[in-house]
Amino acid sequence: MQEETRYIDVYTGNGKGKTTAALGLILRAVGAGWRVLFCQFLKYGEFSEIKALKKFGKQVTVRQYGSGGFVRGRPSEKEIGMALAGLGEIMQAMEEGKYDLIVLDEINTAVYLGLISLKDIRNLLERRPKDVELILTGRWAPEEIIERADLVTEVRRIKHYFSKGVPAREGIEK
Ligand code: ATP
Ligand code: MG
Repeated sequence: MQEETRYIDVYTGNGKGKTTAALGLILRAVGAGWRVLFCQFLKYGEFSEIKALKKFGKQVTVRQYGSGGFVRGRPSEKEIGMALAGLGEIMQAMEEGKYDLIVLDEINTAVYLGLISLKDIRNLLERRPKDVELILTGRWAPEEIIERADLVTEVRRIKHYFSKGVPAREGIEK
């Protein structure tokens, strides 16, 4: 049997630092020569992190599977379709062994909002080759994902200037 060298990691919670933790790990993985796939669910746009990741050249592939619109209540068919197509693409890339690290940014949120089913996530986690590291980020990580993960970190908000009305700032949050 293939030896387990890589794991399933979750960054969740209501504080700041989930996506930045994943981005920090990409920095480290690139330094180690890993091939990286960074996928963002729900989001769409040339955020600073996307621009920065593109500077790594072909060592890092970036994909966005969201419309960028705010999902409130029932997600649209279009939004669901984009998320599911993304998940299919990730599954294929993962099974083809194209990447050492795959980041699924905001996937927990996508599950919470009902864009992706737990069954689909279960399938993804079960089919993960043991030499692929998966990072799942986003608030509200479902219990089943937490149970299946090897590393789970919850970032807890003690203070966030968002509550003072400070929106996402370029260079810090986007
Ligand atoms: P970062 O990317 O800075 O590491 P994160 O990934 O931990 O953050 P997300 O849940 O992805 O956090 O938050 C994304 C955005 O939500 C932030 O840019 C912030 O402006 C906004 N935000 C922060 N706190 C709240 C809140 N309590 N309610 C709604 N939006 C918030
Ligand atoms: Mg985030």
